[in-house]
Amino acid sequence: MTNKYMYFIANWKMFGGLKSLNSLDKVNKFLKNFKKKNSVKIIYCPPSTLIYPMKERLKKTKIKVGAQNCHENINYGAFTGSINSRMLKDAGANYILIGHSENREYGETDSLINLKIKSALKSGLKVIFCIGESLQEKRKKVTKKILNKQIKFGLDKIKDKKNVIIAYEPIWSIGTGLIPKSKELFKTIDFIKKKLKKNRVLYGGSVNPKNISQLKTIKNIDGFLIGGASQNTKKFIDIIQKTYN
Ligand code: PGA
Repeated sequence: MTNKYMYFIANWKMFGGLKSLNSLDKVNKFLKNFKKKNSVKIIYCPPSTLIYPMKERLKKTKIKVGAQNCHENINYGAFTGSINSRMLKDAGANYILIGHSENREYGETDSLINLKIKSALKSGLKVIFCIGESLQEKRKKVTKKILNKQIKFGLDKIKDKKNVIIAYEPIWSIGTGLIPKSKELFKTIDFIKKKLKKNRVLYGGSVNPKNISQLKTIKNIDGFLIGGASQNTKKFIDIIQKTYN
């Protein structure tokens, strides 16, 4: 690995209650004793209900907290059931996932994502901007075209991109156990990095303790966005350890 540090982002999705926070103590203990602790950035993205208590729990640790999505409006407003980026920052989030395919599936367009990213950056959050192609698009060999479009419109008119991290998550690999072939993944990450020269690029989609040995050999990946396996403390720690073995 050539990177200064690697990101390990836990995406809890719609899982977890107050009791789930107990698992963080183990992760923190592991991190404290981990030889490579200065090369590791751990960020937990729990459901919004857990942001504040999680932040409190992690106060004295190096683990950061992120949100999973936000409303595009940065101001308060009559939007029942919504939470904006300022509120998430106020609750203790430092990061936010935006553009996750599970939200795109529910109608989040590139232009809506663009508004959300702008609002999150304005609120002082670091954005983990998710992009990725579907299986159909992969089969049609239009992956680059799709990523190009998602990046172009998602980051439209955003001059200062230093607080944007890209997470490349092929939709067909999320929750399926499938991952791209190493060569192919290297090329896709390289394609993204050539477009966004200064941004870190992560991989996400079925990352687990088994396939991490393969994924870690891909030199241009700056870290991982981990869904299912991040809800299991042992697996999450295993992934981090194995990345450095
Ligand atoms: P997965 O999810 O690791 O369960 O595939 C990744 C994600 O959706 O961010």
